[in-house]
Amino acid sequence: MILILGGTGEARELARRVVPEVGAHAAGTPDLTTPAVFRGPVVSSLAGRVSSPALPPGEVRIGGFGGVAGLVQWLRDNDVHAVVDATHPFARRITANAFEACSQAGVPLLILRRPGFTPQSGWRWVDSVAEAARELPGERVFLTTGRQDLGEFAGCPQWFLARMVEPPEPPLPQRIEVLLSRGPFTVDGELELMRSREIDVLVTKDSGGAMTSAKLEAARQLGVPVVVVRRPPLPPAETVADVDGALSWLGTAGA
Ligand code: NAP
Repeated sequence: MILILGGTGEARELARRVVPEVGAHAAGTPDLTTPAVFRGPVVSSLAGRVSSPALPPGEVRIGGFGGVAGLVQWLRDNDVHAVVDATHPFARRITANAFEACSQAGVPLLILRRPGFTPQSGWRWVDSVAEAARELPGERVFLTTGRQDLGEFAGCPQWFLARMVEPPEPPLPQRIEVLLSRGPFTVDGELELMRSREIDVLVTKDSGGAMTSAKLEAARQLGVPVVVVRRPPLPPAETVADVDGALSWLGTAGA
């Protein structure tokens, strides 16, 4: 079995391309990019954070494994041959757990991480969301760091437009508008949103990917300063930047 740790667009694309019957149906013809080695089951794993997640094709399991020990057990119980960690660049814990569990269980691990944003001049880089909260160069803040980190801004006097997929839980900033929305977003849409709320600073994680970059282009056009939270470091596992790289690796990992 191949286990894909998911929750991202790349994880869904990888699942689509390694679940042969789905790939064939989607294209109307056999998916020639899917090597013949992918005959075994493929299971995608989601954390279960959102109530109606975008589901990948094929088998899906939802919920935590129970830390490193639980994941080691799961890998053994399910005869997993290879793990692809295609989680979000800021999902630090599951990535660390996958590295440790795969090491313990002797299962090959690949990390699939899309590249970060192409840096633009004038961006302010910080090491954490907490640091971003301490150094906001504006009063009307467009916050796109997700609901899990919202508490870091709870003591801030600024006004916030906070966009996320699921409703947040306290603590929240006192002056806040919550916008529940899931991408992709367009540059025109982001321009309209930022103009209408008179945004004067954008805070983002260095998530990377085209799906979330429209806000950066809108900020550039409007001359709005951007605060970018750096990614956490990766464990020393083999890493690729795209789904093609993951498919090549799976072909040689004997999955
Ligand atoms: P995290 O802090 O790294 O993980 C916390 C715990 O959630 C893990 O220890 C694990 O529980 C469980 N978990 C996380 N991802 C899992 C997965 N794919 N399958 C099964 N269990 C998982 O993760 P997070 O930052 O809360 O992110 C949760 C999920 O949302 C990830 O799958 C990620 O790809 C996606 N996501 C995250 C962000 C972000 O900004 N962090 C943005 C978009 C999407 P156990 O220890 O019990 O195994």
